[in-house]
Amino acid sequence: MPDCIFCDILSGLAPASFVYRDEQCAAFMDIRPVNPGHVLVVPLAHAAELTVLDEKTGAHLFRVGQRLAGALRRSGVKCEGVNLFLADGAAAGQEVLHVHLHVIPRFRKDGFGLRFSPAYFIRPPRSELEKNAELIRNQLG
Ligand code: 5GP
Ligand code: ZN
Repeated sequence: MPDCIFCDILSGLAPASFVYRDEQCAAFMDIRPVNPGHVLVVPLAHAAELTVLDEKTGAHLFRVGQRLAGALRRSGVKCEGVNLFLADGAAAGQEVLHVHLHVIPRFRKDGFGLRFSPAYFIRPPRSELEKNAELIRNQLG
C-alpha cells in the first residue's frame, strides 16, 4: 500500500468530510478549498495517474462529478458556475498522487483562474494543428 493521504482518508485512518461514496469512488471536501464547497472525487482503488486508472472508473468519476456539480448549484453554497478540474502529473499541477477530480464552485470575481503563457496569444498555423492531431490520432488505437 503506497503512503497516500487519500488512501488513508478512504480507509478511515485520516479524517475527512464525506459527501458521497459508492463501490467505485468517494467524494469529500477539499481541506484547502479554492472556494467554499470545493469537493474532490477519488477512486477507491489507489491509482497514481490517469494512465493507470481503468476507463470505466474514470468515466464514473466524471459521472459523479457532474452529479455533484448539480448538487452544488442547488445547495445554497455560493455557486454561479462550476469547474471540473483534474491535474494529471506533477507538471500539470498534481500534488496528491492519487487521481482526483476537483469539483469547484465558481462565482464572478472569485479571484481564481488559469494563467496563459505568452505563447497562447500567438495562434499556431493549421499545419501545426494537423501535425499534432496526427501524432495523437496515431496513439488512440
Ligand atoms: P492537486 O494539486 O493534486 O490537483 O490537488 C490536491 C488537492 O488535495 C488540493 O486541493 C489540496 O487542498 C487537497 N488536499 C491535500 N491534502 C488533503 C487532505 O489531507 N485532506 C483533504 N480533504 N484534501 C487534501
Ligand atoms: Zn491512494
